[in-house]
Amino acid sequence: MQHEDAQAAPAALPETEDAARELLLGLTWPDGAKHCPRCRAKAPYQLAGGRLRCGGCRYTFHDFTGRWLNETGLSPLKWVGLAKAFAQELSTREAAAQVGISYNTAFKALTVLRLAIVAQGADAPQLLGPGAPLYPLLDAAHSEDKDFAPGTALPVYGLLSRSRHIFVDLLPELTAESVLHFNHNFHLRVARHGSILITDRYKTYDALILCGDENLPYHYLLRHPGQIFAESGGCPFWDFARPRLRQFKGLSWRRFPLYLKELALRHNLGGQALAPALLAALCTPVPKLAQ
Ligand SMILES: [Zn+2]
Repeated sequence: MQHEDAQAAPAALPETEDAARELLLGLTWPDGAKHCPRCRAKAPYQLAGGRLRCGGCRYTFHDFTGRWLNETGLSPLKWVGLAKAFAQELSTREAAAQVGISYNTAFKALTVLRLAIVAQGADAPQLLGPGAPLYPLLDAAHSEDKDFAPGTALPVYGLLSRSRHIFVDLLPELTAESVLHFNHNFHLRVARHGSILITDRYKTYDALILCGDENLPYHYLLRHPGQIFAESGGCPFWDFARPRLRQFKGLSWRRFPLYLKELALRHNLGGQALAPALLAALCTPVPKLAQ
């Protein structure tokens, strides 16, 4: 017991609605100075009911307008509970039960949480912008291109280790077709796990990885002798991610980057640091991407 007490105690997460709102307000407005989410003019007027009005463009908004956490109707305390459940790696069903929300609400909110994680990356515009894999998930209005089948133009990601951290980058210059081509013509080793393909080292990357769909010609892959770097203990992230990817229900090429980025964050932060990082991501603005 004494040994445990000596460990740095993590900051406790709030347990009341007021305390949760206070925490999220602090993350949304770190220096306390508010600004208009539309034109960024400072010092909005305070209106009744907690609303704010911009003195520049007259836009009426509230504290969380334009932030990820505003994408669902969850209260601050429910968001804190969901972030906690996510940090504990609970399933959607378990998270819904723990927070006291429906399965569908939990599923949507967890997607928002994962999108907020993706938005923190340098490749966010390539993943969230028009035509990008995650764009349709941002807004139900874009759902018509959900059924779009990219054939062999499926996106490819690079896994890059730097000391104990992993970086997962979308590689816009590559597609599934490039991977098949490298496999055929340059003897790049490729392993298949269901719809997931992972390659041997490529340039500075530990591996290239992609999630195929039913149209990808998996039978076209050639077996080359020898081991794949990431599968022979060379990439600790892959050892961490591989069993977890199996747990995700309905893994699709479109949702794949959500899970890759989530697992990279879990791998890099882990433990008690995860929930605060998730809440901070939820309080960042939803990026305004050109339509
Ligand atoms: Zn304004």
